[in-house]
Amino acid sequence: MPEVYKFGGASIRDADAIRHLGELLTRQVPPPRALVVSAMGKTTNALEALLDAARGDDSGGYRERLAALRDDHLGVAAALFGTDAPVAADLERLLAALDAAHRRHRDAPYPVHYDHTVGFGELLSTTLVAAWLDEIGLATRWCDARELIVTDDRHQAAGIVWDETCARLTALATRDQRLLITQGFIGATAAGAMTTLGREGSDFSAAILAHCLDAEGLTIWKDVPGVFNADPRRVDNARQLERLSYAEAVEQSWHGAKVIHPRTLAPLQRKAIPLTVRSFLEPEATPSRIGPEPGDGDRVPACILRDDQRLLDIRPADFRFMDEGCLGEVLGHLARHGLHANFLECEAMRLRLAIDARPRACRELLDDLGEAYRVEETCGLTLLTLRHPDAALRQALVGDLPVVTEKATASTAQWLLPSDACPERWRLP
Ligand code: ADP
Ligand code: ASP
Ligand code: MG
Repeated sequence: MPEVYKFGGASIRDADAIRHLGELLTRQVPPPRALVVSAMGKTTNALEALLDAARGDDSGGYRERLAALRDDHLGVAAALFGTDAPVAADLERLLAALDAAHRRHRDAPYPVHYDHTVGFGELLSTTLVAAWLDEIGLATRWCDARELIVTDDRHQAAGIVWDETCARLTALATRDQRLLITQGFIGATAAGAMTTLGREGSDFSAAILAHCLDAEGLTIWKDVPGVFNADPRRVDNARQLERLSYAEAVEQSWHGAKVIHPRTLAPLQRKAIPLTVRSFLEPEATPSRIGPEPGDGDRVPACILRDDQRLLDIRPADFRFMDEGCLGEVLGHLARHGLHANFLECEAMRLRLAIDARPRACRELLDDLGEAYRVEETCGLTLLTLRHPDAALRQALVGDLPVVTEKATASTAQWLLPSDACPERWRLP
């Protein structure tokens, strides 16, 4: 089975980008079997803000934000097709469905309301992109990922029901030979409730398709030529890693290298499907390849930066040990609120962990920890993670910066630093 391709928000952020995507696809020999597409540009952030407005956490009006989303998408449709194109009516229908879904779920728990509203970004974007590909003569079949990707009901971080998902995808691919185009990020439970796979989860969606369709490969098209040993937008001297093993790619993405979602690798690894990370801006540039074999990038010192970290210093309230019972309880609360410990360090009577500063989830976590624990919080931190660090790298990056806390294993060292003391741009030696 030919490849699956994934295109992220930057590759379809406006009408010119969608035109460019169309040209790129027409040049691919052999053509891909399926496309997975994210929401346009920063639409998912806009939908999260819309949801907060709807739930009263934000002063900005829900109606104004919905109107802005409509303007964005209809504006791109008008630029691509002119006025009164049929796709405009499809977009209007989706916006009405989003509004209705929001009203139906406004009293539901936040994660359920989230999935039924924020997931619409990908439905809107794929409707536009599919219409454009049809316009330029690429026969596509638009598919609703809610009918293909079957998940459990862990809203905002849904797990995949693999057998059913694979059965539905292979049946579709057998029935329809056209280029399949579907949404990243979303799925639905067997009962039909809309779910999402976690922020940035479209890479994972593409890996699910590649796995279930037995694809020859997965190519993720990015605005950078491949995976680097640091974010090239923030770090000078970052160098591209041409070959990486799945295992090292998991380590880097799990620690926060934003270029691939960490859930992407396992479905590929299970069938030894190679992953290529390539630039849609410079398609001829050498890409990065990730596969089962060890790669030359596996041991290269690499730097990962994560901003907006909140350090929680948690102690049992009554001078108890931070024993397995307490650890289980605290980490259980973390998991329930969809929070991930990006940094974790345990001593006899304290647990220190750093999480992404998501105000609502943090507030709910602190409520759950309640009277049983004393929690001190430090905000405004940057987490610096170094893989395979050497002395020169440590000195170049950490140098004399004030360190809030740090820890190291044989292969990974981490520092929590006050963000306001960190440089605007970093530099590798
Ligand atoms: P998508 O369009 O698929 O959502 P993202 O914006 O999530 O793409 O990921 C691409 C961005 O990831 C790049 O623009 C780059 O700034 C950033 N990035 C962070 N770490 C790395 C890394 N180690 N290598 C390459 N890019 C990285
Ligand atoms: N649109 C979703 C997000 O921005 C999923 C993705 O782009 O991968 O998180
Ligand atoms: Mg992304």
